Amino acid sequence: MELIPTIESILEYGPVCDHCLGRLFGKCSHGLTNRERGHALRITHLIAKNRPYAEEKDVCWICGNLFDATGTWAERIAGALHGLDYATFLVGCRVPPLMAESEELLWSDLGLSSPEPVKAEFNREVGKAVSAITGKAVDFTRPDIVVICDIANESVEVQINPAFIYGRYRKLVRGIPQTRWHCRVCRGSGCERCGFTGKMYQDSVEELIGRPVIAATHAEDAVLHGAGREDIDALMLGSGRPFVLEVVAPRIRSLALSDIEAAINQSAAGSVSVTLDHWSDRHEVETIKTEKAHKKYSILVEVDGAISVDDIRNALRSLSGATIDQRTPQRVSHRRADKVRKRRVIAIECTGEEDGRFFITVVGEAGLYIKELISGDSGRTVPSLAGVLEMPARVVALDVVGVDGVVPERAAGNEA
Ligand SMILES: [Zn+2]
Ligand SMILES: [Zn+2]
Repeated sequence: MELIPTIESILEYGPVCDHCLGRLFGKCSHGLTNRERGHALRITHLIAKNRPYAEEKDVCWICGNLFDATGTWAERIAGALHGLDYATFLVGCRVPPLMAESEELLWSDLGLSSPEPVKAEFNREVGKAVSAITGKAVDFTRPDIVVICDIANESVEVQINPAFIYGRYRKLVRGIPQTRWHCRVCRGSGCERCGFTGKMYQDSVEELIGRPVIAATHAEDAVLHGAGREDIDALMLGSGRPFVLEVVAPRIRSLALSDIEAAINQSAAGSVSVTLDHWSDRHEVETIKTEKAHKKYSILVEVDGAISVDDIRNALRSLSGATIDQRTPQRVSHRRADKVRKRRVIAIECTGEEDGRFFITVVGEAGLYIKELISGDSGRTVPSLAGVLEMPARVVALDVVGVDGVVPERAAGNEA
């Protein structure tokens, strides 16, 4: 591409601002902003043509001098974000069709290979200006807030992204469904059958957990994503069922999980109790809902030493719900990177004995190495059954019996 003739051709279309001129050569960045690059190109062209320098006074035919208003847009956005609690944001925009068409016309007419669209420059430049005002960071992948600028209408729309909390719940009473259950008659709109609540049941685990969270975060709603579900009439005891709570449009986010946990446990006392583990993300919702999240195994275990079923049960109690540090097992170390992974034992219980061997069921997070959980793998897996017993133990048979099951309902039956 011959630079000077190309600039000459561009300028023949009409007055163009430095931003738009620079953007047409977007990928030849040289560490410059579009405006700086555009200005440099304009001067290069003038010198080559031996013309005197004069500021471009006419309105840009592509963008209508959109970038003169960068500061105004930033202030408009900062105003819209005022009072919201967020750490990161992202600016997006709707470009008027005519504006997009104008630049695309130039791209194809002149065969430009690396232009940047006006949308990208607007989002970036306004984002920087908002950052300067608010002190908050732009995040391209997981922003707390997305602001959409409607350029034609000079208006902004604020979208508050959900917050996600990973935890585990125990359900201590029967008769509560996991999630809201619409009335079969009115399908949620309210009727005499449901006492105008729209619901089959007055409460759910989702609402018992969600209500105090909605109150604390000033959210619009809270949606429970559970790792499987128990029946309405089943208790959920043991170490509890993993879940991710999706907090919809929270106006407050900078809260301590321990405070949220305390608020839930106080408000749902007697019905549901939770432990909250970490702030999560949408990705983990997918993980928790796929069958890969948890696997259930039935194993047969041999222990070197005199030991009873009760001894085994006592030992397993300390493993149920425990987070296991597993260094890559010796048996796979030749094909896996050697590192320590943390995996959770969701539940583990001994169901019986035969000929001095023990039947054990285990539900573990995806990636938990079961054989090593039992044997300890020469101290590479901690804690382990062998470690707790202080006796050698090994798996002699192993079956995967479920991929989504969470055992504690049965454990609950034993405890009750
Ligand atoms: Zn322009
Ligand atoms: Zn109804």
